[in-house]
Formats: sequence, C-alpha cells, structure tokens
Amino acid sequence: MTRIVRSFVYTGQASRVVFGAGALEHLEREVQLLGASRALVLCTPEQQLLAEDIAQRLGTRAAGVFPKAVMHVPVDTAAAAVAEALRVNADCALAVGGGSTTGLGKAIALQSGLPVLAIPTTYAGSEMTPIWGMTENGLKKTGRDARVLPRAVIYDPELTLSLPAGLSVTSGMNAMAHAAEGLYAQDSNPVMDLMAEEGIRALASALPRVRANPNDVAARSDALYGAWLCGLVLGNVGMALHHKLCHTLGGTLNLPHAEVHTVVLPHAIAFNAQFAPEAMKRISRALHHHDAALGLYELAKDNGAPVALRDIGMKREDIARVAQIAVQNPYWNPRPVNAEAEGALRALLQRAWSGDPP
Ligand code: NAD
Repeated sequence: MTRIVRSFVYTGQASRVVFGAGALEHLEREVQLLGASRALVLCTPEQQLLAEDIAQRLGTRAAGVFPKAVMHVPVDTAAAAVAEALRVNADCALAVGGGSTTGLGKAIALQSGLPVLAIPTTYAGSEMTPIWGMTENGLKKTGRDARVLPRAVIYDPELTLSLPAGLSVTSGMNAMAHAAEGLYAQDSNPVMDLMAEEGIRALASALPRVRANPNDVAARSDALYGAWLCGLVLGNVGMALHHKLCHTLGGTLNLPHAEVHTVVLPHAIAFNAQFAPEAMKRISRALHHHDAALGLYELAKDNGAPVALRDIGMKREDIARVAQIAVQNPYWNPRPVNAEAEGALRALLQRAWSGDPP
C-alpha cells in the first residue's frame, strides 16, 4: 500500500539530554557547558537532602539551595525564588525534582532569563516543554516561552528509585496522557507520532515492573525513557480534551495532578476514539491491547492506581460544573467540544467518577 505523508510543520527545540543510570556523575560537566559557575539548586522541602547532595557535588559552583518548591508554582514562591537567585548572584537555576520544582525553575527563567538545568525525578515531563505555569489567587496562568525550556536535562533513573510505587504508576500514566493526546493533536507531525507511540510502549512495559520492584533499575530506566519521549510530545504539539478536563479538575477542585490524569485518560480516549482512528491504532499497538481506552484503564487498575474520581476527592455534585467549564473556551479536540457535547461530557465524567470501564 502506498503511504501518503500528510503536510506538517516540525520545529526542533534546542535542549541537551544526558540519560542513563548514574548520569548524575556528569553534573559538573553539564553546569560548566552551560557556562554557569553559580547554580541555585531548587527542590521541594521533601527532597532537600537530595538537593543538598547535589549542591555538595557542585562545590563552589553551587550558590545555594532553595527548598521551597510547591505544587502549581504560587506567584509568591516564584517571587521569593527570583529574589534568592538575585541575592546569591546565581547564573543558573538547577531544578531537581518533579514538575513542581521544574516549574519553579521555569518561573525564575521567565523573570530573570537565567538558564535552567533540570534533573527530573518523576515522569511528569515538564523538563521537555517551553510551557510555564503560575498560580495566583487560586487561578493558574500558563504560557509558552522559549526561555523557560531547560537548556540541559540529566535523566538519571537511579534518582527515581525513591518515587513510591503508587506515584510512579500515576506519574507514568500522566506521561502517557501527553503522548496519547499528541497522537491526535491538530498540529501533530510524524516525528512526534513515532515518539508518542514509543513513549507509551516503554511506559506500558515498565510500569508493572516498577510496581513489582521499585528498585529495578532497568524498569526505572525504561519508564524514564518513556517519560522523556512523552514530555517531548507535550512540548511540541497541542493537547486536547483530556488535558482541558484535568486542568479544570486540578485547578477548580484542587484534585491531585497525576491521579486525575490517570483516572480521566481512558475516558477521554474513549470519547475521542471514533474521531481519531489512527491515534487509537498506535495506542493499542503500544499497549498490546485490542482497545486503546480499555487498555489504559486496565493498565491503571491492574497496577493499583485509582480509577474513580470519587476515590481521589471529587464530589458527585461537581460533575455538571466541570462539564460546563470544559465546554467554555475548549482546547481544540478531534471530536468537537461544544454546547451539544455537554451531555456527553457529563456522561464521561460520571463514568470516571464511578470508576466504570470506559
Ligand atoms: P510534584 O513535582 O509535585 O512532586 C510530587 C511529590 O513527589 C513532591 O513532594 C516531590 O518532592 C516528590 N517526589 C518527586 N520525585 C520524587 C522521588 N524520586 N522520590 C521521592 N519523592 C519524590 O509532582 P509532578 O507530578 O512531577 O508534577 C506536577 C506539577 O507539574 C503540576 O503542577 C503540573 O501542572 C506541572 N507540570 C507542568 C508541565 C509543563 O510542561 N509546564 C508538565 C507536566 C507537569
């Protein structure tokens, strides 16, 4: 059969990736290559010991540790981090941790222009995107800016061994959501399609092994490799209904980020299935399952992840409100999300709330 490649635009984004178990040993070299000599190390309070170890490895190239990263980058935290970077005369923001910490590094980059070196320890994928987010008075603002894309990323699977099994599975499903939606993005391209399918394949194979043995370095490497690819997709193409629903559920109801993605993904994929057959083929193939949505649902359920919004803090009364918000200013989606779709969205959310299969 003749293959017809559709028209597309692909923009390569400049970031350097150093990957492998033990890759942290290249830390000093990477800071030097950025031309930096005073890195401010950012982390959450929970990961302060790791950040201090990193500062110690850097010796005089570390300007200090700022251990105050929290979820969703409150503007006050961002302002305090920028002030600290100025006070210690930092020339680089070094973010070690999950998406919350990378987000703080991006906030510094946005306001000061300092380069970011990211050392991710979850599968969220923020380190591969030029997308920043900040929260003020409960409202999250996001934007795209090339300056916030980390210039270098060190992926060391050994740093993910401590990520609890439960959070590893949900964080991995969060990553797969980027790839799954990237496959039906309006601006998708063949390079991202390859990465998305491979990212889903790597994570689907790795997550059960990570859950069985969180210290399995080979499984952790496969999972982080998949997360890298999925993060690249998130940074390159637009996201659709699934991400809109998760932003609404996370932002408006303050539900936990990775868990929300895990629960909603199979239902969003089922909602779009008939409108994105090629994407479904790739997801199914990557999951080794005859049905993309069901394959994602079973992957989560079989690995102990939550599959019901009611189990992660959502009240039934909020279903109608979330459906209503989702149809206002919707993201582009292969199946139109308009006022007529509100009923179908309520049904989607009802299933996700109850934990029914998609
Ligand atoms: P997180 O960064 O909030 O981390 C969750 C918790 O896990 C924290 O307490 C953290 O210290 C801890 N943790 C992280 N790695 C660990 C490890 N290896 N061992 C033990 N504990 C560890 O969670 P996340 O899911 O990585 O990130 C979520 C945030 O990232 C959200 O705010 C989301 O909006 C944002 N995000 C942004 C983008 C983007 O492109 N801008 C992409 C993905 C996610």
